[in-house]
Amino acid sequence: MKGEQRMSILKIESLCKYYGNKKNETKALDGISLEVQTGEFLGIMGSSGSGKSTLLNCVASVIRPTGGQILVNGTDIRSLKGAELSDYRGRQIGYLFQNFELLENLTGRENILLPLALHKYEEKKGEQKLKELAAYLEIQDVLDKFPTQMSGGQKQRIAIARALATDPKVLLCDEATSALDPTTTASILDLLKDLNQKLGVTVVVITHQMS
Ligand code: ADP
Repeated sequence: MKGEQRMSILKIESLCKYYGNKKNETKALDGISLEVQTGEFLGIMGSSGSGKSTLLNCVASVIRPTGGQILVNGTDIRSLKGAELSDYRGRQIGYLFQNFELLENLTGRENILLPLALHKYEEKKGEQKLKELAAYLEIQDVLDKFPTQMSGGQKQRIAIARALATDPKVLLCDEATSALDPTTTASILDLLKDLNQKLGVTVVVITHQMS
């Protein structure tokens, strides 16, 4: 990010998410505010049940907050509808999950190309992107394997490639290394730091542990 001016990519203001009804209410988020600049690597740590997944799901617009605002690149995501919302979810935000969430009946290559096909990328452009990501993530050998034929670390690398395929503005990582052994965890964390520093991807990592 040398020489590039940092700007606010994600701004969360007084975010609240209450589940249930008045009699049986869980205040999962109760007035959270934070700001992430482009190229930043932000770690958010909290115990189980402290609202980490709720926060990410609000940012990914999978669930609707009870109150407050989420601005991504200056746009209030509540104002997005239809194609714009689908574009936001599918292209502007990359998501990395604890259990990888790869489709078991698709190969690594097909898993990575799926979001590109869904968002109507040109086939040639998609193939070029796949080639670049596979080289960077060192996953050329597993592209034609199915997830059941891959190790945990290989699955997470495929998931990283899938998340980065659409050049998202922010990569959200929800306990992305919890299912991995310590050595693989270290290599995936190094990879996240590297893609933050070298590719300038803004990364938000949510974890319940010190890593
Ligand atoms: P974390 O990811 O930090 O473990 P969560 O965001 O999953 O925390 O949950 C925060 C709180 O909200 C917990 O008390 C959880 O039980 C509650 N919660 C999460 N999802 C729901 C839901 N759909 N309905 C009711 N309560 C929920």
